[in-house]
Amino acid sequence: CGIVGYVGPRSALAVVVEGLRRLEYRGYDSAGIAVVEGGRLHVRKKAGKIANLDAELAARPLPVDGLGIGHTRWATHGGPTDTNAHPHVSADGRVAVVHNGIIENYAALRAELAEDGVTCVSETDTEVVAHLLGQQVAAGLDLAEAMRAVCRRLHGAFTLVAVDAQGPRSVVAARRNSPLVVGVGEGEHFLASDVSAFIEHTREAVELGQDQVVVITDTTLEVTDFDGAPAPVRPFHVDWDL
Ligand code: GLU
Repeated sequence: CGIVGYVGPRSALAVVVEGLRRLEYRGYDSAGIAVVEGGRLHVRKKAGKIANLDAELAARPLPVDGLGIGHTRWATHGGPTDTNAHPHVSADGRVAVVHNGIIENYAALRAELAEDGVTCVSETDTEVVAHLLGQQVAAGLDLAEAMRAVCRRLHGAFTLVAVDAQGPRSVVAARRNSPLVVGVGEGEHFLASDVSAFIEHTREAVELGQDQVVVITDTTLEVTDFDGAPAPVRPFHVDWDL
């Protein structure tokens, strides 16, 4: 339902949790966050209000360094449980993904994964994406290539935001039939399902087009289509107040 991503010098944990709060108005039933630090994923996710996630973070703190992604979920496939909350993580623990929307062909993809010996632990349509990205990255693709390859196989509506704990310092996102905007700061980039998540930090933004993938680092932003062809960057200034 709501998505936030951050790479930059600030605490990703603080920026992402604050961004999720700004998206609370959309409604949600669960919340979660993944931080990449020290070559590892650190994930916390809880059913219920962000206050539940706050309590979990107080009990089991996350690193304040690194980069991060977060999600507020409005369940479509699988009830509102801690396990079904996003982020979802690949079987090898290397890739984490958050998702807004519905993967219509998830059942066929889940069956295919089962044949490869990969078992989903949640009831969501989203988890197949985590495992498919993990397989591609394990096969040697970088996360952006993996995202393009996986998106070409997905049907439905999705905003996806992913991180690879062992990849270069970046966050990768994709969209089809579901919104995604990038916030452009000084030495930092934000990703969100809507600008209200980052407007307190920057009003310079880039809108992602249909079937596009974006890679953000602290200082760079690259947009391609699902085949890897460079796509024009479409900047805009947020000059309205929320
Ligand atoms: N279909 C996904 C799920 O049920 C994502 C729902 C959402 O957009 O929050 O987990």
